Amino acid sequence: MFEKLTSEASKVINPKEYSRFAEGGQVAAALETVSGAIYTGICIDTACSMGFCAEHAAAADMLKHGETQVVRMVALDKDGNYLSPCGRCREFLSQLDEKNSEMEILLANGNVYTLRELLPFDWKN
Ligand SMILES: [Zn+2]
Repeated sequence: MFEKLTSEASKVINPKEYSRFAEGGQVAAALETVSGAIYTGICIDTACSMGFCAEHAAAADMLKHGETQVVRMVALDKDGNYLSPCGRCREFLSQLDEKNSEMEILLANGNVYTLRELLPFDWKN
């Protein structure tokens, strides 16, 4: 379950400075869809805030393969710490598929939360 996602996310963590203005790979995310497929992504940070989160990149990888429904997801930093998805990624994932509100996310405290719990008072309900 989360062990496989953690392992897949760990494989793509690769901190790099791409240029004077851009770096990435310090955070990686892995998500599992209803089909059982696992998709990954890394964060990209740039000057002027044009980068995006690892969760966003993993979702783009999923969409590229024609899927939208996530079952569970993790994000890790380069030291292996679990990270909570930011507000933008919570909203982003919730809009890709209405069933994503039930997806499970493992956080640093070792507890698993649904996206619905992390996104209370959802404007779409
Ligand atoms: Zn985010």
